[in-house]
Amino acid sequence: MQDTADVTVQQVAATLTLTPDTLRFAAATDTATVGRTMRDALGSPMTGVAVTFATNNAAVATVAVSTGKVTATGNCETTVIGQVAPGGSSLTKSVRIEVGGTLPPAYLRGGYVGTAYADTIGPVAGGGTGYVFAVTAGALPNSLTINSTTGQISGTPSALGAFFFQVTASNGTLTLSERYAITISTRPASAFNLWLTYNGGALPSANAQAAVSAALARFEQLITGDVGPTITYPASGLSSGTCQLVDASLMNGAVIDDVSILMALGPIDGLGNTLARGGFCGYGRTPAPPSTITGQMKLDEADAATASATYLQDVIVHEIAHAFGVGTLWQSQTQFEGTDSVRYYGTNGNTEWRTLGGPADGVPVEIGVEAHWRENWFNGEIMTPTTEGPAVRLPISRMTIGTLIDLGWAASLAAADAYTLPVCSPICTVSPPGVSAPVNERAFLNDVAIDPLLPLPPGAIGKN
Ligand SMILES: [Zn+2]
Repeated sequence: MQDTADVTVQQVAATLTLTPDTLRFAAATDTATVGRTMRDALGSPMTGVAVTFATNNAAVATVAVSTGKVTATGNCETTVIGQVAPGGSSLTKSVRIEVGGTLPPAYLRGGYVGTAYADTIGPVAGGGTGYVFAVTAGALPNSLTINSTTGQISGTPSALGAFFFQVTASNGTLTLSERYAITISTRPASAFNLWLTYNGGALPSANAQAAVSAALARFEQLITGDVGPTITYPASGLSSGTCQLVDASLMNGAVIDDVSILMALGPIDGLGNTLARGGFCGYGRTPAPPSTITGQMKLDEADAATASATYLQDVIVHEIAHAFGVGTLWQSQTQFEGTDSVRYYGTNGNTEWRTLGGPADGVPVEIGVEAHWRENWFNGEIMTPTTEGPAVRLPISRMTIGTLIDLGWAASLAAADAYTLPVCSPICTVSPPGVSAPVNERAFLNDVAIDPLLPLPPGAIGKN
């Protein structure tokens, strides 16, 4: 039975997002405007909703009540509050304001258990001298310490994982904070190592931090061959605009063994839909594959704050696979078959597809989202364009590992998860039983960031 009625729906703001997390000003009289996004309870962006701004210290910064334009007035730090009224905590957000000096985000090299480590935070840019450095949130890798005078982090790591932490530099006038990450590899330097470092967003949730560690460790199982000696990037050459998702200038001078992911955390599209984006970034190994040296990845802050560690782990593995070239550097091994069909013919990936029961050469690639396997055929496999909901793990098939081999990585087929073609294949278009929310089926769509892969300048390869 159908019925109709006229209904007037009042769209009410449910969440407010202010960007960026921190506004930095070199000196008084500098200005910038706080970005704001309002969404309704269904996550749809809203326009025409008034946000009222106020400063917590007009001696440091003033803010225009309705436009959010901030003007620095004196050296120190404060916060600016934005509020949709009336509204609770989800409609009241703050932006940190720092005037007169910055503690810049930085690429920090990774390390190995039992091997001496050293890298340095700072120095503070443009804000006087005499700073005392301290870790004020999160934790350094086990057994590392920060030198309070120099900002150097050193010691001999004793435990594995990606460690996120906040460093605060204070000199009595200015108190400046930034967030960083250091990865301690699961493997010694002689093996394949994958590091992750941080673009300086908010400190990720505990779940997101655990997911990063688990995803890196999983990749260090998949890739078994050391790619070569440590690479030191040139001190300049990459700019903030080189890559879509992160500030690639942080990679200038970076030391990398063997691949490093620069991670950002920030808004993408609110809760659900795209959970993260990823791809390669910066320089590439030329002419021989595997190409990727550094990757970029951005997690949606709304999803990363609430998703489980295992769900995020699968999302991060998916994005790192894009950084390694799966779906992003495989074009020479794909072929357009006419109408809307693209297929993948790389030798090892195709062999595994035939072993799975593929009826003819050429792995089906997703229509219109061609950086992924085709959802209709592969459903829950990790490199399809959708997840299967928060409770369903996404297996890494031998087919995906075969593709990594085709891309030049020394990868282990034996490290694959158990995977067979699903019973719904080749018409798997709907969620599995028990997962009704379509939002869960759209977690990877449009997640790929493809930027130019720059040729590595001669002399950039250093010693291990
Ligand atoms: Zn993807």
